[in-house]
Amino acid sequence: MERAHTGSDAARHASGRQRIHREAESAGRPGFEAEVPRPSPQATTGQQGLLTNRTTDNSPQFSFFVLDGGHCEDGSEFEFYTEGGTQVGEAPKCSQCGRFVGMRPLLPPVKGVLESGRSVIDLAKLVGGDVLLTERCWRVLKEAGIRGLINPFAIDVVEIRGPADRRLTANYLIAEVQIGGSVDRVRSALRTSGNDVCPACGSAGIIEGYDRVAVEMESLLGLDLFRINGLPGPVLVKPRVRDVCSDAGLSICKLIPADCYSL
Ligand SMILES: [Zn+2]
Repeated sequence: MERAHTGSDAARHASGRQRIHREAESAGRPGFEAEVPRPSPQATTGQQGLLTNRTTDNSPQFSFFVLDGGHCEDGSEFEFYTEGGTQVGEAPKCSQCGRFVGMRPLLPPVKGVLESGRSVIDLAKLVGGDVLLTERCWRVLKEAGIRGLINPFAIDVVEIRGPADRRLTANYLIAEVQIGGSVDRVRSALRTSGNDVCPACGSAGIIEGYDRVAVEMESLLGLDLFRINGLPGPVLVKPRVRDVCSDAGLSICKLIPADCYSL
């Protein structure tokens, strides 16, 4: 299964391996994220920079980051590709409007290959909306009371591909990210194929674009790491998650200020 949205990626990974990102599959095409969002120029804030510029969760300009994956701060690849007949389930549908509200979930057991261009990372996002994280990262987040990740399961990384000195020294999990609020359609400048917003799931058809990821503040459920109704692709992260990871020496693939994350 190829990632259909980036030609170079599709060409590089046309080996028959199944990229864990399972967007736009014909049988269960979710009605969002027609393209892979890219940060605006200068949007990516290096983790090092973030570490020296801590903010509180109330700081308006850095209220949230978007957790990204695929390519890390330094541009190097960090991806997981399934192999060996990993099964996927049915994409979830909204019971009220019938639209797809998520990607087809991977069903354990999950086996695959980790591609690591430069660094082995503790926390990264998978395009399907789940996150990939080390067992230690899961434990640290839980001990710190970070909320928003559920249903973790261990995956079998059969190989790590990349520079010869890259060795797998950690066990990896995949965890589901909970919905923790709703998109602010106006502030996000969200463009959708329709304007009939479902009151249950926040969907209004296929997402055609947005200028930033903005959340309706009154809709927030208090999670630290979450997705949002109406724009369920991006995974939002409070600054506290970054700080907890930093204090524990855990690496995050990429964090982009939500104001700068567009499609
Ligand atoms: Zn709905």
